[in-house]
Formats: sequence, structure tokens, C-alpha cells
Amino acid sequence: MSGPNDPVTALFEMTRKALQQKQEMGDTEIMISRESLERMPEEVKDYKDLEEFENDINECTKCPLHKGRTKFVFGAGNPHADIIFVGEGPGREEDLRGEPFVGRAGKLLDKILAAIDFERSEVYIANIVKCRPPNNRDPESSEMETCMPYLLKQIEMINPHFICCLGRIAAQALLDTRLPLGKLRGGFHDWNDRKVMVTYHPAALLRFPQYKPHTWEDVQMLRKAYDEFKGSS
Ligand code: SF4
Repeated sequence: MSGPNDPVTALFEMTRKALQQKQEMGDTEIMISRESLERMPEEVKDYKDLEEFENDINECTKCPLHKGRTKFVFGAGNPHADIIFVGEGPGREEDLRGEPFVGRAGKLLDKILAAIDFERSEVYIANIVKCRPPNNRDPESSEMETCMPYLLKQIEMINPHFICCLGRIAAQALLDTRLPLGKLRGGFHDWNDRKVMVTYHPAALLRFPQYKPHTWEDVQMLRKAYDEFKGSS
């Protein structure tokens, strides 16, 4: 899977920075042309902010999901959040509005956030894939793999301490595992110097409300760890 930790991407980034440094030091023989910068994968470019990044990728056609989308769903929330909630992909409402978690599942997510004293505007919310899979099917591995560098770039730019994966698909894609959700939830995973919590997707809770107590335990644990982190940082 490509991403900031992929060796090819890391080498590419190192070379680009070294070339830029040489240029800044007055070495005029080494030039990076505008054309070559534009050909760079978006995940290794430097953006001023999330808005600039979104504007660069919102017409993406890298995977077949672009064919059925109404709106590209980049993500929303606090660009400096210490916690990002990650779902698998936009649903019908999200596709129509271009915002993540705004349908019935989104309303439940708002309630879950409110129960642990978070406003939506305090956190950041995004998905593994930015375009709606047809008929709300699960995103395919190849689609997630193609889109994942965008999420990794968002994470790099926002730099949160915590990531909460909502549902098995988001958790398996981010943590690169095939373990079932039951084995992934209930504690924190160390991931690239961040803490990842896994819990149920709000859409699953709408269908199976018996999982709500588990979700409550997970998000309480998340809030406690968040408060401890904020108290010590
Ligand atoms: S899902 Fe991601 S990779 Fe696929 S077209 Fe949309 S933005 Fe591009």
C-alpha cells in the first residue's frame, strides 16, 4: 500500500526536499519544474492547508467510484483536531451534500460525540474512500488502497494524537489487518505514533442496537485517554 510510510514515497519525498534545499541554498543548476511538481502524487506535495489539498483532489478519477458520485466527500471539522473519526465511505446523504456523516448514522454519531462532551466542530471526521460506493456496498480493497493516501495525507496535516475507526472496514484498512472488529476494539492500537481506537460504525448500531453498550465503553475510554493526553500536553 502506498502512503507516507511506503519506502518509495519516503524516498521520493526525501529527494524532493533535498532538491528544494539545494535550490534554496542558491544551487541554480537543480530545478524542480512546475510541470514535475504538478505530476507529483498529491500525498507528497506540500499544501498550505486542508482546503488547498481538497481543491487539488476533489475531481479525482483514480478509481471507479468517481463514476457514481454526486459530490466528493473530503472530510470536515477542526483542522487542528487531536482526534479524527474515520468511517468507510460516504452514503447517500453524504454523497448529495458533500459532507461526511450527515444521514441517520451521522445523527447518531453526533449523539455519541455529545455523550462524551465533544462538539462536532472540535473533532475531524473523514472516510477511507471519498466517493460513494454504489448502493452503499462496501468499498473494494483496490478502491480503498487507491484512496488511502488522501486520508493519510489528511492525518499527516491535521496531526491528531487519536484516531477512532468507526466500523470493521475502516479499522481493517487503516490498521492493515484482517482481524474481526471484536478483536480490534476494547483498547488502543499504536499506529505511526498515534493511538487508534476501534468501535462500531453508527450505521451498524442503528441495525444492531445491542452493540451500543460496547460502543459506550469504547468512547468513554477514548474520552478518558483524550483528557489525560490534553492534561499532560
Ligand atoms: S474514491 Fe478516492 S480514489 Fe476513488 S475516485 Fe474518489 S477520491 Fe479518487
